[in-house]
Amino acid sequence: MNLLKPGYYQQFQCIAGRCKHSCCVGWEIDIDEETYLRYQSFSGPLGERLQEHISVENTPHFILDDKERCPFLNEDNLCDIILEKGESALCQICTDHPRFRNFYTHYTEIGLGLCCEAAGELILSQKERFFVPEADEMLLTEEEKCFFRFRKEIFRMIQEREFSLKQRVENLLSKYQMSFPDKSNQEWADIFLSLERLDETWGRLLREFSLSEELLPLGKEWEIPLEQLLCYFVYRHLAQGLSDGCFRERILFSVLGLWMVSSLFRMVSSGGFSMDKLVEIARLYSSEIEYSEENIQALLKLFE
Ligand code: SF4
Repeated sequence: MNLLKPGYYQQFQCIAGRCKHSCCVGWEIDIDEETYLRYQSFSGPLGERLQEHISVENTPHFILDDKERCPFLNEDNLCDIILEKGESALCQICTDHPRFRNFYTHYTEIGLGLCCEAAGELILSQKERFFVPEADEMLLTEEEKCFFRFRKEIFRMIQEREFSLKQRVENLLSKYQMSFPDKSNQEWADIFLSLERLDETWGRLLREFSLSEELLPLGKEWEIPLEQLLCYFVYRHLAQGLSDGCFRERILFSVLGLWMVSSLFRMVSSGGFSMDKLVEIARLYSSEIEYSEENIQALLKLFE
């Protein structure tokens, strides 16, 4: 299978023990069958711990402790399985995270998800225009060819840096005859509050947002990070339009992601804007919305 990846992809590195929001905390981690069988063959103290801390109820998964931490995440926030057996001993989910994939007939596109702070920092601090190698048209179906041309034009419009980002979004929506729903902060906050939630910090931010009126203006230096954010949403979500036909809805969903993250970023920046704050808001948005198919579908429905 041919793999296509964004220009920055190879630079990604998990920051492990320095990660403030480790993916080994708060998420249920399912173990694929092959790894589960391998874990059963491990002997010694690690083998015993694996026997003790894996539940086979439904799909095999690690039993999180009372702080919702993976039982193999040690006090230094390092993984005991990696420390003892190396990265190749990880199950598929742990090996993959924070990567996502979109599948085509002869290609797979891979990307890094913003729910990981190291990926967020890498993606949002890119200065170069977002770039992913083009697929060979000979290996694409007619539908895929149309899709890649359509998406290329969207990326081009999003990255027309002679215009402000606001103008670029308006140009994009106008070209494809779309309009973004006109709602107050409170109405948007209520919509997000009605969705499934993971982290109470997200609920608190949304409640604060519902009461906010004037948000701080964003300086020009945030145009490129937010352009990267919009490219990320389009790269991650538009391809699924090939399965459900919801291209229009997915563009608007991407614009909503941009609007919501930038608005919350403006709201929390009264003490000063910083990349750390932007990465954190994007991380929260991504883990609350992008990792729940139910939430994605509920938001797509708004644009039908
Ligand atoms: S969230 Fe990202 S940086 Fe943090 S532990 Fe997971 S992969 Fe590593």
